Amino acid sequence: MISQNTIQQILSRIDITDIVGSFVKLKKRGANYLGLCPFHNEKTPSFTVSPVKEIYKCFGCGRSGNAISFLMEHEKYSYVEALRWLANRYNVEVEETEVSAATRELHQTADSLYIINNFARQYFSDLLIQSEEGRDIGLSYLKERGFDIPIIEKFQIGYCSRAKDHFAKSALEAQYNPENLQKTGLVVMRDGQLVDNYRGRIIFPIHNSTGKITGFGARVIGKNDRAPKYINTPENEIYIKSKILYGSYFARQAIDRADECLLVEGYTDVVSLHQAGVENVVASGGTSLTTDQLNLIKKYTNNLTIIYDGDAAGVKAALRGLDLALEAGLIVKLVLLPNNEDPDSFVRKTGSASFKEFIAENKKDFVLFQLEVSLKDAGTDSNKKAAVVNRMAETISRLNKTEDFTKQQDYIRQCAGLLKIDEEGLNNLVNKYIRERIAKQESKHLNQEEKAQMATAPTEGGTENEDVLTLLNKDDLIERNIVRALLDFGNQAWNDKQKVADYIFEELEINELTNLIDNTQMLMVLNTYQSWNREGAEPDIKKFLYHPDEQLRAAVIDLMDTRYELSPNWKDHYDGPLPSRESLYKEEIISTLNYLKLRKIKRLMDENQRDLEKASSPEEQLTLLQTHQHLKQLEMTLTKEYGTVIFK
Ligand code: ZN
Repeated sequence: MISQNTIQQILSRIDITDIVGSFVKLKKRGANYLGLCPFHNEKTPSFTVSPVKEIYKCFGCGRSGNAISFLMEHEKYSYVEALRWLANRYNVEVEETEVSAATRELHQTADSLYIINNFARQYFSDLLIQSEEGRDIGLSYLKERGFDIPIIEKFQIGYCSRAKDHFAKSALEAQYNPENLQKTGLVVMRDGQLVDNYRGRIIFPIHNSTGKITGFGARVIGKNDRAPKYINTPENEIYIKSKILYGSYFARQAIDRADECLLVEGYTDVVSLHQAGVENVVASGGTSLTTDQLNLIKKYTNNLTIIYDGDAAGVKAALRGLDLALEAGLIVKLVLLPNNEDPDSFVRKTGSASFKEFIAENKKDFVLFQLEVSLKDAGTDSNKKAAVVNRMAETISRLNKTEDFTKQQDYIRQCAGLLKIDEEGLNNLVNKYIRERIAKQESKHLNQEEKAQMATAPTEGGTENEDVLTLLNKDDLIERNIVRALLDFGNQAWNDKQKVADYIFEELEINELTNLIDNTQMLMVLNTYQSWNREGAEPDIKKFLYHPDEQLRAAVIDLMDTRYELSPNWKDHYDGPLPSRESLYKEEIISTLNYLKLRKIKRLMDENQRDLEKASSPEEQLTLLQTHQHLKQLEMTLTKEYGTVIFK
């Protein structure tokens, strides 16, 4: 968790025109700024940014919000990611709360790896453009493949020298940690010496969805049967293969606009399609899709269109991931390119308009597509055919959500027809797979519960408990304080018009603090005091001590019993002999009420924060963020006004 202090620092530095202006070209119009809306297609600008109100609003599509909601919507950041982005932008050091040592170490390594990757990215880019070797070998190859300079720069493509340790030396000279260098996979240890791992290859940096480089794909130049076509970064703290979709950083807005994500196999396909103007495209790297990758896609759209060339390996890899896509609730279509074409070659031949047209016209439902491909593959072999039937039933069984029931029945009918088998038989088979999966999930669930029970088993030591108790006692002390002040000074004058008791009750009422008093005994005393006060009686301790309610009597006795202690904060404020309590009761009351108010604000902020983490729509987030800012402002004013209370 990012600390409240950090959040406050970030919020105080936000300049909305600066933030929005980094993504949208803005022109000053009177007090506001105007630009083309990034959330809908428009030719005349209706997107307005108000630096005074710190908000943006589009009069075309109606989207509006503040700097944080802009980042959340435009960059698809989570609330925390947006805060981190801003912290980085405004050089605010992020202070974490409740982070374990292990987590901190993990973060530190991750940060180091990002820094090394960024250094490497710059290094390889420079080498490609500025060195003779880079130009002769790397750049000429890329140009031959049809990539122009702007697209090479956009994707930050680079080149690694053929020399043995050109990069390793530079990185060591720049003082990077050898252990972390090896973790990035950029270098390897040979005979006690660090040498380059991607020698003579084209380097494709792989960005995560916030634009940071998590790893690299290094492609061999030309044909070399002895070497793998691609070498990828090994798994490390930041490169988790199953979570990566190449190009997602560059595609995210186009996917959002098109409400469709195109999936291709290779890095060069993505780059090439971008160059042609088809930007809603990502690459899986030729493996089957993982749940994490599918969730990443789902962040932007529910429509996934997989583009594959006739190459059997590619199709099969795509098909393997599709059951998961179905389960994730994605609407999956497949487009098979004409023979001997891949997305790269095909878009070059046809141009972007025809390419898009071809995709739109040749989308196939993937379940039926899978059946078609498998049936063709099985031919007349009855064993293979049986395997196809099983696989289809399994695939259809994944659609076992209620809302997909009609779809499921539809598939069963169509597939049974194509397979020339009994519809009811297929239906039974599908049900069998559903039952099996439920059983499997249940047993898995049970295991997790068992594990959870073990994890919550009582542990030794009570220091954490003590901290909590201290915290609880502090609240209790304050609650007792306000009641005691009431009993001791209630009938004295607060000012010309009010008694102390009137002032206290007014403050408690205006700020709705009474219902937050946790100590029920104290609450009882407060309420009784108030009712007497309303009747015009002058409540005093004696009255309480002779009250018929035993509990009430006990509460007041208990209160008198507690030896009075000055607020520890006061001791910091007064040197020399401490003034008597009588001479300070106003300060004491203000300070105590102040604590109660701050406590309430803190509780409201916590509640707001929890809502914010759950909030789904930008409008909701905006309202909650505004509430947060308002509360923070209140907190600051209170703390500033009465610096005597240090609020945790
Ligand atoms: Zn708009």
